[in-house]
Amino acid sequence: MRLVVMKFGGTSVEDAAAIERTAKIVAGRVALGKSPVVVVSAMAKVTDALLAAAGAASRGDRIGALALSARLRCRHRDTAGALLRGDQLPKFQTWIDAEFDGLDEVLRGLAAIGELTPRISDLVVSHGERLSSRLVAAAFIERDIAAAHVDARDCIVTDDHYGKAIPQDDFIEERCRIHVVPHLHQGRVPVMGGFIGSTVKGITTTLGRGGSDFTGALIGGALDAEAIEIWTDVNGIMTTDPRICPDALRVKTISFEEAAELAYFGAKVLHPATILPAVKKNIPVQVLNSRNAENEGTRIISLAPHSNSPFKCIAAKRKLTIIDVVASRMLMSHGYLKAIFDVFDKHKCAVDMVSTSEVSVSLTVDSNEKLPAIAADLSALADVKYEGRKALICMVGENIRGQNGIAAQVFQAVRHVNVRMISQGASEINMSFMIEEDDVDEAVRSLHAAFFKDPDPEIFDVEARDAARAIMTQLEERVEL
Ligand code: ASP
Ligand code: MG
Repeated sequence: MRLVVMKFGGTSVEDAAAIERTAKIVAGRVALGKSPVVVVSAMAKVTDALLAAAGAASRGDRIGALALSARLRCRHRDTAGALLRGDQLPKFQTWIDAEFDGLDEVLRGLAAIGELTPRISDLVVSHGERLSSRLVAAAFIERDIAAAHVDARDCIVTDDHYGKAIPQDDFIEERCRIHVVPHLHQGRVPVMGGFIGSTVKGITTTLGRGGSDFTGALIGGALDAEAIEIWTDVNGIMTTDPRICPDALRVKTISFEEAAELAYFGAKVLHPATILPAVKKNIPVQVLNSRNAENEGTRIISLAPHSNSPFKCIAAKRKLTIIDVVASRMLMSHGYLKAIFDVFDKHKCAVDMVSTSEVSVSLTVDSNEKLPAIAADLSALADVKYEGRKALICMVGENIRGQNGIAAQVFQAVRHVNVRMISQGASEINMSFMIEEDDVDEAVRSLHAAFFKDPDPEIFDVEARDAARAIMTQLEERVEL
């Protein structure tokens, strides 16, 4: 059996048209002789709306919470109306109503009690994936795909850390054998929601925001899939943000480690932990675009093939603040760094990057409303300055390992930019530095021009860029005529 897990994100199931496209993509895989297991997110923005409803209810705003729920009820009913025919439709709409009646019951209860526990929050928010997965399964059946809905909560067994529950791998394998494998043997396509799970006792949990990718990787790992496909609305991982740099190229192949590094720096692809179950079993993950299904996307594999380009990607993270701590009294005394970090710990503030010298420590944090309080606490230890509107540029690539002269090339490319802090990641596959936010576009373009002048066509989609350039030249020539 050529088993593939196909995970579709919120935008790939956001409305009837998106679900139609998704059905076509899955039918295409079946036609190729593959056995897909489909994992779907909630329809786009539904998770946020459910959280807002739970929040409103727990603040006593019962009317507001029920209004949010009513809007979601209409959206799901309308989408079902556009996708289903015959007696399927009234049956399904009755089911949707029953689900929302149950949800409204919980919201009323929350409003009465005025307290939202993580456990109840998970219960409320789980409705998004519960609804989308049933809807997608019904739409598939209507389109002659032999689909079978599977309740993800029967398969994804987790601990009881509500809001970010930890999956229990051994249980998951066993549950998949019971609830998923029989459908596959009968030639059916199992369809389940991502993000949601349950404890061994059957209490609903979630894997944390963005957790549907994680579900995809868990199911893929449990079933030893030959591949995991993550369907989104971008053409895969790009060398850099194409809005900053029109010359950005699609990366055809990237290693797990590189992808994880990028995710830490906010590149909107995958959360690093989510692909771990796939890494462990050496299952390739393919990032694909459901609006452009012909595109090959990006393949994420455990060992990157050799490439003559040192870097795969340039990521930028804005809205950072640099805090400079200049030691006065406690200069070089032991326990000094600990005392500094204790302050950040006390304010629950994560530090992104650190660099130290004999007399000073510089740290960066996400712009944070607690900064004045943090600075006040730090000033008991040293002189403190902080400056916002900074950005981190992060260059990622396995091929920088042990290569001489890379740093010189990087800083040569941005020689006109003021670099504030430098760090070469412990992972040895990233080189990061801090600059002014206003310099980001300029720096990214210069770096891209320097390192992707002659990109390896095995690793980067040079054809698409060349085609785009050819069209531009034609247009320019026409304008000149
Ligand atoms: N629907 C969930 C969220 O928005 C999970 C996911 O889509 O990955 O976080
Ligand atoms: Mg996502």
